[in-house]
Amino acid sequence: MAPLFNESWHLRAACRGPETHLFFAPSRFERRDERARRERRAKEVCARCSVRDECLMQAMSTSEPFGIWGGQTESERRRVHLAAAEAAKLTPVPFSV
Ligand code: SF4
Repeated sequence: MAPLFNESWHLRAACRGPETHLFFAPSRFERRDERARRERRAKEVCARCSVRDECLMQAMSTSEPFGIWGGQTESERRRVHLAAAEAAKLTPVPFSV
């Protein structure tokens, strides 16, 4: 059985290494300005990542609840999911005669 995802892209992730901590909220309290700074720095790493599309696709398809993936925070991905669900409700059902 083929794996659901080809995860070889992980090996080319720009976030591998010492900057990994930028991508997830710390276990201690994080002030709003600290969070904004951390997320901005993480997104800068994502902006130069060669596997950004694969990363975002995996996070979206698995509804990854935590962290920055493909340059998007969890709340940004959630908004995309909600917008897609809303759009799906508005899409007319195909009708054939
Ligand atoms: S897009 Fe961002 S989170 Fe995803 S692999 Fe690249 S650097 Fe890491």
